[in-house]
Amino acid sequence: MNSNVENVVIIGSGPAGWAAAIYTARANLKPLVIEGDPTSEKNRQQGTIPLGQLALTTEVENYPGWPSGHTREFLKSALGEDQQPYWVTANKPQPNHGINGPELMELMRQQAKNFGTRIVSKDVAKVDLSKQPFTMTTHDGQQVQAQTVIIATGARANYLGLTSEDNFKNRGVSACAVCDGALPRFRNKAIVVVGGGDSAVEEASYLTKFSSNVYLLVRKDKLRASKIMQQRAIENPKIELLWHTELEEVVGTDESGVTGAIVKNNKTGAAQELAVSGIFLAIGHTPNTNFLDGQLKLNEKGYVQWTTLARTYTSVEGIFAAGDVADDYYRQAITAAGTGCMAALDAERYLAHHGHI
Ligand code: NDP
Repeated sequence: MNSNVENVVIIGSGPAGWAAAIYTARANLKPLVIEGDPTSEKNRQQGTIPLGQLALTTEVENYPGWPSGHTREFLKSALGEDQQPYWVTANKPQPNHGINGPELMELMRQQAKNFGTRIVSKDVAKVDLSKQPFTMTTHDGQQVQAQTVIIATGARANYLGLTSEDNFKNRGVSACAVCDGALPRFRNKAIVVVGGGDSAVEEASYLTKFSSNVYLLVRKDKLRASKIMQQRAIENPKIELLWHTELEEVVGTDESGVTGAIVKNNKTGAAQELAVSGIFLAIGHTPNTNFLDGQLKLNEKGYVQWTTLARTYTSVEGIFAAGDVADDYYRQAITAAGTGCMAALDAERYLAHHGHI
């Protein structure tokens, strides 16, 4: 085998990418992760920085093993006195929060590195998947060849593109109710959700658990969401549907974050300010597949198509996909990590089957 050809290259550095790296590294495949360019202004603007969407969120309360609140107190309650790790009993200072998104991702990255994963901090600009070994070219022209590739480039939430929206990201503006909805800043306060699809209704319904009420801004006079979800929105007394309504501007201050939303009726032109502590965008996601340039089969929504049930196979043998780039349905950190593990095992079996290892 050509020693310059990698066993496995993983493109992307969210939970799917690192899970794939941890598994392939532990299998002695010496994975190379191309994690993205941390200095790219385009990556910053469109939310495609290394470490993925979790790098853009705050507390993560739903990743198993990482409870919210005081880690020390959790361990005391979860384990018996005699089972506690030394640092609980040794009275060492502990962080007073569970884990936040960037921390969780740094830990996954380090865990992969500890097993020998090599990391290139560049974007993949193009790929050639037409022949083996596959070739990846980074944004500065470096070429990497591999027997197998795991695509784990994720998806990015769509935003409206307002400057005020950008200014208050993570301070009241979010695109993930499951990630951020339970934060204290939203408790018993009014919230705006923008969108009319299943995600918007689901996010609005979820947010009613915490907020006093939710304004659902729908730009048309009907919801795109499925009938059952529409019914759920209409019947929920805490959701107020504002038809023909669009978000004009996010209002807030440096100290408090979001304090309001200026919204406009696109039929009458009438504008009003709603006093809200949060604005959730649910206007769809875009999978990060541009660099593939049509070389892998995508589904009708533009996500990489898994071609075999319960496998991470794609339309090209030897190329596997994991995480949100191939999943427009669950979109959770834990599911991404799960499919990252699956892709690693699939790649390992492929390499063994073809006599590469
Ligand atoms: P969709 O593409 O279905 O809906 C996007 C919504 O955002 C539409 O109502 C659209 O409005 C609105 N929108 C888009 N751009 C703008 C904008 N610039 N300003 C205001 N509104 C805008 O995306 P979803 O994320 O809701 O759903 C994606 C897929 O996932 C769907 O297939 C859905 O069925 C599925 N899903 C299923 C769930 C479930 O079954 N529980 C939960 C969540 C998602 P318009 O209608 O006017 O175009």
